[in-house]
Amino acid sequence: MIKRVNHIAIAVKNMDEALSVFENLFGLKAAHIEELPDHGVKAAAIPIGDGEIELLEPIDPEGAVAKFIERRGEGIHHICLEVDNIDEELKSLAKRGVELIDKVGRKGLAGKVGFLHPRAAKGVIIELAQKV
Ligand code: ZN
Repeated sequence: MIKRVNHIAIAVKNMDEALSVFENLFGLKAAHIEELPDHGVKAAAIPIGDGEIELLEPIDPEGAVAKFIERRGEGIHHICLEVDNIDEELKSLAKRGVELIDKVGRKGLAGKVGFLHPRAAKGVIIELAQKV
C-alpha cells in the first residue's frame, strides 16, 4: 500500500553548493548525508514537515545520476512514495508487467528502496521506499 510522498529528489553537480542554496533560500539544512556507492551518489536528506527533499550528487561518473545530469542537467530526479512492504509492492508491479529498475528492495537513504523505470510512469522515475 502507498502511504505518502516520502521525498522528492534533485540531482545536483555539487552537494555543498546545493545545500547552501536551500539554506540561503529557506533556512533548510540537511539532517543526514551519506555516500551510497551502490547508487553511485552522495545523498543528503533535508527534512520539511513529514517529508524531505533529497539531494543527489554523483560520485560515480558511470552511475545513473551522473548520466542523468549529463543528459538532462541538474533538476528533479525522482519522486519517492513510501510503502508498507517494498518487496511485495515490487513483486505485484512486476506481475502486472510494469518495467522496473529493481526487482527487490535494496538499501537507500530512505530505507529499503526500489525504482520503477521512467517509461512506467510518464517519464518520471518513481522510487518506492519502506522505512527500516
Ligand atoms: Zn530517493
